[in-house]
Amino acid sequence: MRVLEIRPEYGPGGAATVELPGAVYRIFGISGADASDCEGVVFLSQIHGSGILFDPAMWAEGDGMIIPEGGRCPGIRTADCLPVFLASAGFSAGFHAGWRGLAAGIAGEMLRLYPEPPEIVVLGNCICTDCYTVGDDVERSVARSSGYHGNPPGRLDLRNSAISQMEAAGLPEETIVYSFPECTMCREDLFHSFRRDGTAGRNLQWLCLER
Ligand SMILES: [Zn+2]
Repeated sequence: MRVLEIRPEYGPGGAATVELPGAVYRIFGISGADASDCEGVVFLSQIHGSGILFDPAMWAEGDGMIIPEGGRCPGIRTADCLPVFLASAGFSAGFHAGWRGLAAGIAGEMLRLYPEPPEIVVLGNCICTDCYTVGDDVERSVARSSGYHGNPPGRLDLRNSAISQMEAAGLPEETIVYSFPECTMCREDLFHSFRRDGTAGRNLQWLCLER
């Protein structure tokens, strides 16, 4: 699996736009996004589960979505959890992966439901492994469902857990994984972090196909 780390030039408050093959990735941290930025982006009412919806209405309840090519884009709101996106010629998809979602198998479920081999996968900004302290029970339940057993003691690596669960569900070896490694908790200047601040602020990240 090829994982390419991307560190874009972030604007004030964690805004960035990154051109990827066939798609544009947008990030809004503490600066927020206004309505014109969000045009055509679908957000869900996320509930830390593993439900994936096909072509959902705005604010439908679930943690993942698959959208046919045609203008709308999947958007994910997080404070420390990992947003993951997939794209190919005919579809784009996004899901919200925290420990609960990964323990419930959301990354594997997405790979099983996604209608064609994904050309790219994007792992957005989330809390880093050093910052993400968890109890042994949490680490064990995610390790069991993801197959990733490299977590340091008392810590959880959301990125490698998600990749491992997708690989086990058939993520093609030739898919390129783009990873945005800035930590939501370390980078107070860029991102909201629930663990750091305990507030309701959310970072917005989305992926739009560009053909
Ligand atoms: Zn960190």
